Amino acid sequence: MAYNYVIVGSGIAGVTAAKEIRKKDSAGSVLLIGDENCEPYFRIKLSHLMAEEEPELPVLNEEGWCKELNIEAHYDARVRAIDFNAMTLTLEDGKTIEAEKILLANGSHANLPPFENSDLKGVFTLRTFDDLQAIGTYLDDMERVCVIGGGLLGLEAAKSLQARGKDVTIVHRRDYLLSNQLDEELGRMLNEEMEAQGFNVCAGYDTKGFLGKDRVEGIEFSDGTVVDVDCILVSIGVRANIDLFEGTELEVNRGVVVDRYLKTNLENVWAAGDVAEVEGRTMGLWSASRAMGKVAGANMTGDEKTYENPMAFTKLDIGDIEVFSAGKIGDDDDDVYVYDEGDEHHRLYVNDGRVEGVVLYGNTKKMGAYRKFVEKRAPIEEALEGAYPFKLREA
Ligand SMILES: Cc1cc2nc3c(=O)[nH]c(=O)nc-3n(C[C@H](O)[C@H](O)[C@H](O)COP(=O)(O)OP(=O)(O)OC[C@H]3O[C@@H](n4cnc5c(N)ncnc54)[C@H](O)[C@@H]3O)c2cc1C
Repeated sequence: MAYNYVIVGSGIAGVTAAKEIRKKDSAGSVLLIGDENCEPYFRIKLSHLMAEEEPELPVLNEEGWCKELNIEAHYDARVRAIDFNAMTLTLEDGKTIEAEKILLANGSHANLPPFENSDLKGVFTLRTFDDLQAIGTYLDDMERVCVIGGGLLGLEAAKSLQARGKDVTIVHRRDYLLSNQLDEELGRMLNEEMEAQGFNVCAGYDTKGFLGKDRVEGIEFSDGTVVDVDCILVSIGVRANIDLFEGTELEVNRGVVVDRYLKTNLENVWAAGDVAEVEGRTMGLWSASRAMGKVAGANMTGDEKTYENPMAFTKLDIGDIEVFSAGKIGDDDDDVYVYDEGDEHHRLYVNDGRVEGVVLYGNTKKMGAYRKFVEKRAPIEEALEGAYPFKLREA
């Protein structure tokens, strides 16, 4: 017999949707399918957990939650194919499942570009708890670790690796770290602070490939420079898991294309979380995935809720370094307002008289208020009445 609701993926989007469905429909049968061999967990905690020698699974729910909500969960079960016409899903073991409504919440995977020798032992990405454990075991006897990618996740991972006593090199393609979140001046300041904290920062280096025979022993850049390392963690973004839908009529672009109700182009099929593309964007954010799960779950039961992409923001907190960045940050804004006092360096990026971006560097206590200015594109006059006495930067 067909399940009323089948959810592919037991991450935050899938789990939130399952709970929302149960809230709205107390009787319908709900099946949650996930291919990881464990209970759903806080994926966002993995970077920090890398600092621990024996990390425990940071479970998302209390024990017995599925039973209590009468949700059937199949973990360690991979959906191999979906026939959207017949509304059937085939699992890796050949079992077929019938569904009335399907939610695609199968997430994304870490991006691993075709670097030379990227299949060498000792080259890792971090997406799952299994990845975390594999890295942890490998690291035990290793000293020098290289993190490729100086974005938020790369820097958090670098900090955890340093906390485990490793000698950490951070490689970034652009000239300064957090290059999507900072302008050049602050980015270069961050490079220096990270160096001062003991990291070896290689910014402005393009990775060509990896060196080594049985296991990785070095990284080579396209200018021929070689750095000796024992282990490499590649942290350069994610890609939506869309391969599963190849050859089907599902509309797919960078992710599964959905409207504001999170409906796909196919009848009775919704998508949520990292796999979903809303208004041309895949978000790759925990809070957005949770919000999508809630909307999609409700709509699968007949609601007509809409979802809007939140404004992306970044909060970096590693040791003494605190950075908050939101909105459009660049080197080509009409006006930049600055506040520099001791170790604090804050910026407002203004276009047409309105605040479109903010960076708080060195003290992020006021991030809530400044985030709001960006969210509502506040007139600069309003933002100047905020906590910091910003001054217009001279051209
Ligand atoms: C190390 C790390 C740190 C992060 N830190 C932050 C942060 O600080 N802030 C933030 O906003 N975001 C962060 N993120 C991103 C955030 O974790 C994701 O946006 C979020 O987990 C997406 O949730 P999801 O449910 O859409 O997908 P996922 O969490 O990817 O869950 C999808 C699930 O579906 C499973 N699956 C895939 N294919 C199949 C299949 N064919 N059959 C069955 N199951 C399948 C996957 O294995 C997975 O379990 C971080 C991510 C990582 C990896």
